[in-house]
Amino acid sequence: MREKTHYENIVGGTEAEKKKAREELQKFFDGDGGFFKYEIEKSPEDLEIIKKTESIVDKIISQYGGDIRKLPLDNIHILKEGSVDQMTDGELAVGLHKPLCLHIGIEKQKSKLVFASFVAHELFHLKSYKSARVGNSGEDVRLYRSGFSMVDKKDTSKECGAEIEYFSKLEEAIVSECVKKFLEEIEKEDLFMDEINAINKIKNWVAGFCIKNGKTPDQVKELIIEEVKYIDDPQSIVNSVISFSRKESERQAYAAGIFSAYLEENGVEFLERRNERIMLYKLLDYLVKNSNGRFKDRDEIFDEFARANFSGNYLKIARIIESILGSGSFRKLAEDFSNVNQEEYSLDAK
Ligand SMILES: [Zn+2]
Repeated sequence: MREKTHYENIVGGTEAEKKKAREELQKFFDGDGGFFKYEIEKSPEDLEIIKKTESIVDKIISQYGGDIRKLPLDNIHILKEGSVDQMTDGELAVGLHKPLCLHIGIEKQKSKLVFASFVAHELFHLKSYKSARVGNSGEDVRLYRSGFSMVDKKDTSKECGAEIEYFSKLEEAIVSECVKKFLEEIEKEDLFMDEINAINKIKNWVAGFCIKNGKTPDQVKELIIEEVKYIDDPQSIVNSVISFSRKESERQAYAAGIFSAYLEENGVEFLERRNERIMLYKLLDYLVKNSNGRFKDRDEIFDEFARANFSGNYLKIARIIESILGSGSFRKLAEDFSNVNQEEYSLDAK
């Protein structure tokens, strides 16, 4: 049976226009998403990684109260190197999701772990709550909601994609935070075990070296353990560190040297969207601190954000935010986290 587009809710327009819009969305969904030119064939290993990744992503989404939305394998495209840069005129790199047609494209990677994490990132975007709206006609169907983000629907004279998107930075932060949880989950998977073990060994050596040189365990956790996603050629680094010395302190210093050389040569992959995540962390910490004990930590309040992202229901989180930050604050946050706000994020100015 043919899968159906994830758009259940279409706002605006007449009944006939809504029907037309729904047909358009199904057509996009069944098409190639514009990826055909850039696509390469999936290898058996790619298929295995995609399958495993999607099942973990679905599990995390359902833990946050989201519905499991099926996606045909044909809507996941593996792309030639440099494709995303070409397709987006340099705006994006490596991975891309197209919310209206519900297709994702990810460039082939050397590392299974990095490839899986990019697939997971785009799948979290794609499988978040979706609703569309009728623009100037039923054929002119546009995105309205994608997870936490909401496109300004007042002005249909703006080109599709040029509208203000409220909360778009928050959606990126939520997706990237979910990738962090995905990476914790795949530690247990045989498929990624070799890479993960090697990376963890290197990270622990580097962390040990940093602590000896004055960094606190919290700093090391925040900057290395949790932020470093991948280091190129991890197994060969481990081999050379082990053969360098039997002494742990010498291994730590040697690994730290290699790590900083890799940093300079862009051989280290960090968890994505750090700026957006820092905005989110500041907000979460502020909410926890001022919640009179209702929320104990970041994770507990993050859970409410993730639930709104995957279920589409703003109501509960809006009430929580307004009860802590005051009336009108949800609207203010929508603007602070919009795609057009370039200002430094500050809760003091709320
Ligand atoms: Zn993203």
